[in-house]
Amino acid sequence: MDLVFEQIRSGGDRNFGYLLGDRGAREAVLIDPSYSPDAFVERARDQGLAVTYIVNTHGHPDHVNGNERAAALTGARVAAHPALLPDRPLQDGDEIAIGGLRLACYHVPGHCADHLLLHERSSDVAITGDLLFVGKVGGTGNDSDARTEWTSLQRLMSVLPETATIWPGHDYGVRPSSTLALEKRTNPFLRCRDIEAFLHLKATWPAFKKEQGLR
Ligand SMILES: [Zn+2]
Repeated sequence: MDLVFEQIRSGGDRNFGYLLGDRGAREAVLIDPSYSPDAFVERARDQGLAVTYIVNTHGHPDHVNGNERAAALTGARVAAHPALLPDRPLQDGDEIAIGGLRLACYHVPGHCADHLLLHERSSDVAITGDLLFVGKVGGTGNDSDARTEWTSLQRLMSVLPETATIWPGHDYGVRPSSTLALEKRTNPFLRCRDIEAFLHLKATWPAFKKEQGLR
């Protein structure tokens, strides 16, 4: 097993997509290949990797708008939360095999109801979509969604090892990627001691950012 892992700037609102593959098995998946699906497919082709799945972290248009084109170019099937009616529905606890790699899927609603966290165990790579960014968390539309997001963040912290590297769906932070250990120490939303503090921080985020000099 020989890991291929690339973070690709796809366009849109500083969107990130990913190429994850096993060079030995000559297989790969494209994760959220939006805006510039051709560039993702080219990266796979240049390395002789057959794309088996297009995997989506969630159903927002800025993450899925390249699905059709990527599928047409590769013949790959779409794998995502069942609510998106994909070719392969991914339930909480499911795993996608990519050669010798195993991409575990966890249902983590909040930012939206169909959100998945993806974790490849052997490489400890975690693709967190719009649940967890570097230094921030995903936006939520109301109090109930914010509470659900809190629960999903607690779940993320319980299922991922501290050593996991964090690869978000947008380049919103001071770095393009992080580790769970680093986020636990520096991300104000992961440092909240309880849900009330989390909800308060969400409600007062612009003022908090300004006060702390955050970007
Ligand atoms: Zn989103």
